Amino acid sequence: MSQGKVYLVGAGPGDVELITLKGYQLICRADAVLYDHLIPVELLDIVKPGAEVIAVGKFASRHTMPQSQINKLLIEKAKSKKVVVRLKGGDPYLFGRGGEEAEICFEAGVDFEVVPGVTSALAAACYGGIPPTHRDYTSDVAIVTGHRKGDGPIEIPKAGTVIFLMGVSNIKKIINSLIGEGWGEETKIAAIERGSCYDQRVITGTLGTFLKKVKQVVLRTPAVFVVGRVVELQGKLDWFTKKPNVLVLGQYPQKYRRLGNIVHRRIIDCVPMDDYSRADSMLKGIGNFDWIVFTSANGVKYLFERLHAMGKDVRAFSNAKIGAIGKTTAHKLGEFGIVADIVPQNESSEGLLGEFAKIDMENQKVLLPQSEIASEELPNGLLGMGALIEKVCLYKTVDRDPGSVDFDYIDQILFTSGSTVRAFIRRFGQVPENVKSYCLGQPTLNEAKKYNINAEIVPG
Ligand code: SAH
Repeated sequence: MSQGKVYLVGAGPGDVELITLKGYQLICRADAVLYDHLIPVELLDIVKPGAEVIAVGKFASRHTMPQSQINKLLIEKAKSKKVVVRLKGGDPYLFGRGGEEAEICFEAGVDFEVVPGVTSALAAACYGGIPPTHRDYTSDVAIVTGHRKGDGPIEIPKAGTVIFLMGVSNIKKIINSLIGEGWGEETKIAAIERGSCYDQRVITGTLGTFLKKVKQVVLRTPAVFVVGRVVELQGKLDWFTKKPNVLVLGQYPQKYRRLGNIVHRRIIDCVPMDDYSRADSMLKGIGNFDWIVFTSANGVKYLFERLHAMGKDVRAFSNAKIGAIGKTTAHKLGEFGIVADIVPQNESSEGLLGEFAKIDMENQKVLLPQSEIASEELPNGLLGMGALIEKVCLYKTVDRDPGSVDFDYIDQILFTSGSTVRAFIRRFGQVPENVKSYCLGQPTLNEAKKYNINAEIVPG
């Protein structure tokens, strides 16, 4: 018997938040992750440090790794690692060869479990504005593979709605097979490309006109086709493409959900400083400050890391009062048992200064834990109020590859800090003309202006 266990995990169709809680927790715990091409790439960010991450995905035209080799690798990893996650697009058991991989585990005597996923067959229809069943239209749906070798027609099951996967290169045969089975030329059909992803596209037509239409627009993969009367509802029920797509470059994208569909691409990483000798000697006297003011959740995280490294904890704060620039920072403080004394409504340096203006800061000793490069607005403002400022650098930011972004599908960009502005310019050159830019707080806006980005403060 091997020591490890294989988890066949469904990653969902593309929108990273459609992963199940169980799948998410397993990815966080995994010692090895073997992933397919169609999984949301953001999921690889949650893998723990030191875990092995292997791409075994299949691409439309070429196989990166033959199935037999994937099977072999899976068993091999299960023999040397404890938690092996085999991460597959959509649901592992729907056209994903999940059944075959589970059989391989069984035959090799490897323990396995399967975590279902949200299949693209249903999610693409949903995000495309089409309910596969509806009491006024049809009560049955069939899911069919459009991938057929040989010349024969595709067998079409009897159902009111038919959903085809793996059909892009075979769309002509799919349509001919449907017509051959007696489906009228006026029957509605929709292609949903890259369903639930920010660059999703829905193309609708009828069996009679569809081939001409998809030739004009050039279909992209992956896509599903939905055929049947329910497609008539698409115009009414399209909810996803109506929302703007917002590219968020910072670390905490979920809090901006109200702005639209979040496209999260982390463009910077926060990393420790090379040398903490100055910071550590300053932190030894942390109990002497009247105020400790945090301007980022990272500041909180790194400050506690240093304190813990010195064998100290929150008691070292003594009687210092605590300020937090916004809710995310306050929440991070909460993880260490601290309730901030000041959290401005207007989450910015300006908001903090507004709150400090209400109290007497004359001769108050203020510690500002911050990154290597930080805006001067807050320290200058506090100095102006007569406070005595000490800055302590606890982390620095470095560029990271955010992956590709198709700006044709981006409506807005949200810059959350000066460093995201600079990293964006280094990576992408300029903000494309059709894209609206927003900045979190005045210092970020000032930085954007330096690069001729025509931005506004993010609406509240
Ligand atoms: N197990 C997967 C399907 C694997 S077969 C699932 O449950 O979703 C691969 C096919 O899935 C693709 O050819 C395409 O038809 C479909 N597909 C996967 N992701 C998709 C997406 N985001 N949008 C539309 N179709 C998708």
